[in-house]
Amino acid sequence: MGVPEPLYLAPRLDARLSSLLGSAEFLHGLVDALGSPLNVVLPEQISDNLERFRSVYRRHHLGGEVFFAHKANRSSALVRRFAATDAAVDAASLGELQHVLGAGFTPDRVLATGPKNPEFLWLAARTGATVNVDGRAELDDLAALVRRHGLPRVRILLRLSEFQGAGSQGAGFQGTGVQVLTRRSRFGSPVREVDGLLAAVERHRDAVELIGVAYHLDTVGLAEKAVALESCVTVMDECRNRGLQPRVIDIGGGFGVNYLADRAQWERYTTALADAVLGHRPAMTWRRHGYGLRSESGTLRGALGLYPSHRPDAGERYLDQLLSLPAPTLGRPLATLLLEHLYDLWAEPGRALVDQCGLTLARVLEVRRTDAGDWLVRLGMNAGDVSLEEHGVLMDPVAVPRGGGPAAAEPERAGAEAVGVYLAGNLCLEADLITRRMVFLPRLPRPGDLMGFANTAGYCMDFRADHAQQQPVARKVAAWQQAGSWRWCLDEEYWPITRPGGQA
Ligand SMILES: *Cc1c(COP(=O)(O)O)cnc(C)c1O
Repeated sequence: MGVPEPLYLAPRLDARLSSLLGSAEFLHGLVDALGSPLNVVLPEQISDNLERFRSVYRRHHLGGEVFFAHKANRSSALVRRFAATDAAVDAASLGELQHVLGAGFTPDRVLATGPKNPEFLWLAARTGATVNVDGRAELDDLAALVRRHGLPRVRILLRLSEFQGAGSQGAGFQGTGVQVLTRRSRFGSPVREVDGLLAAVERHRDAVELIGVAYHLDTVGLAEKAVALESCVTVMDECRNRGLQPRVIDIGGGFGVNYLADRAQWERYTTALADAVLGHRPAMTWRRHGYGLRSESGTLRGALGLYPSHRPDAGERYLDQLLSLPAPTLGRPLATLLLEHLYDLWAEPGRALVDQCGLTLARVLEVRRTDAGDWLVRLGMNAGDVSLEEHGVLMDPVAVPRGGGPAAAEPERAGAEAVGVYLAGNLCLEADLITRRMVFLPRLPRPGDLMGFANTAGYCMDFRADHAQQQPVARKVAAWQQAGSWRWCLDEEYWPITRPGGQA
């Protein structure tokens, strides 16, 4: 069969992750000892990423706090390393709250978000964490709990949603009659209900102190976020008119990550995918999966349901762009608006703060050809262990050959040929493919090699991992460089005093 022209999607690798992937002997030693799959986190990287967010705050002369959204990764090492900075953390469950308190965050640096059960609310209130109130019922529950247990007054933010605003940059989203400019959400209180909410805050004055308002929009759309941010300023004005004194606007997370090294590769790939769906080139996916695209009588239909994997303006740059954007109705840059009001800006990045913070490794168990002529590479992991596919992130793994074989990055030397393979998992399940797309590799891997999935720390490492079929869940280690070589310890053994050049 004709080997299709290779369509690579090379991962973006910063220096630290690149050095780690180049340390084949170290990585093989780890997987030999701890099994496949294995997750490696790089705690120092999270502090570097924080510094990038901080620099955007400085550039816009804004005060306020950066909260790491813990839900992106369960690692203790990352959370403890972050606790060693002066930033804060966003806990979205009772377990996460317990974890961050144990990692060294004092409650004044903790924000409790998401819908909460009574135990979560109690621990947040008892310790003095700030509560990002999801809705009216939660506000009433919290106030009742504070009174019943004689707890100190709790600082709260009100999470809002479904913002409406003047149309800007053609940002027309779904909505009936009223022009709803941000998407509907199960979370937060629709901004049209804010009057009732503020009346409740006033009634509960003895139990809660309103320090600000919040939103979190799960979208890459800047226009929507600009509408939400300006609306929050309006709501804050309303609070002040009522004699309340809030000072914080929390813009949530969703700053994103740039996964791919090369824009041209991404564009070529997505174009070719559409061609393959139309039958203009050989299939590029398992059983012609279309990632949302389909062919109807030769016409392309549907929409590509993928994460925009090449996103050079993600992370702190996205924050910078948002703050520089003119407010949709007031016209001044959003950062200026915040400054004029002396409001603090809070942000809750998850994925963006753990950019380049981790790697998921799997052993190649078998390489064989199917009857249909496809190469199948079976790995010692399953789709739950590296949920890139579930999150719509298309990115090639990096081969780490065993025993000093030719590095995947240097195919010429091996005289090897590029090959398209399907990566299969370790479950007895037809659907257990690591990814449904054909992955192009500079050469065919061999059993015993490792496949390294880069940049998995944000949601793609342990969010979905489970014990299906009694397969092991990946162990997790923290790794750092010391005197020019890589060191490691189990994730739960890592404390930020064990650092390069530092005391072990
Ligand atoms: C998930 C979540 C975040 C983090 O989102 P990212 O896309 O990872 O930045 C922040 N705040 C809230 C309320 C969330 O639910």
